Amino acid sequence: MSKTSPTSAVVLFSGGQDSTTCLLWAVREFEKVFPLVVDYGQRHAVEIECARDICQNLGLQLTEVKSDEIRTFSDDALTHPEKVIEKGDERPNTFVPGRNLSFLLTAARFAYFVGADAVVAGMCQTDYSGYPDCREEFVRAAETAIHLAFDRRIPILTPLMFLTKAQTWQLADELGGLELVVNRTHTCYHGVRDAAHDWGYGCGHCPACELRKKGWNEYVCDYRSKAPQKTYSPTNKR
Ligand code: ZN
Repeated sequence: MSKTSPTSAVVLFSGGQDSTTCLLWAVREFEKVFPLVVDYGQRHAVEIECARDICQNLGLQLTEVKSDEIRTFSDDALTHPEKVIEKGDERPNTFVPGRNLSFLLTAARFAYFVGADAVVAGMCQTDYSGYPDCREEFVRAAETAIHLAFDRRIPILTPLMFLTKAQTWQLADELGGLELVVNRTHTCYHGVRDAAHDWGYGCGHCPACELRKKGWNEYVCDYRSKAPQKTYSPTNKR
């Protein structure tokens, strides 16, 4: 990293596979990391418990904030557990309008407050899944809007943006965090933690589990056999 590179970053963190991989990446790239989790009444609240566990494991201090209005003004299935998850014609009913925009604004505010140089977030347009606020175009627009609103440039870094799920598994492995991501992150929409698989815990059949499992299987078949496995060793740079 050059002398002019940022040395601290806020990581938009959920305790899921993608944001945990981003957190490991940020720990490698930045001298100081500020993980931030937003409790917005998500269906799989067990993610927040995973977020706490992972930060404790990495020796990082987790900042938690609540955002009730995201759930209040949406009838999505992600924040309303009584609803059945459906893929839908245009996009799944787990889509929460404006969620990532709210998250990025909150993360940018936090970065401004603590003087961090960047925000790291796990948006990925490869497995787009009908979520418009996971696209590169949206992230760049949000970055511009935040720049104008704050009169300060806070880069939004999205290391997973163009990776497949298999490549995200590979990145976690390269960062020495494969075991951590498998065992400590949560993805399953149904909050299942008592069914273990090679790819981690989950029901194994909800859309989130399907995506995670598919990526894992591709990774094991296409990537893992070609690269040596590494041992996980957390690095505390705080
Ligand atoms: Zn599941």
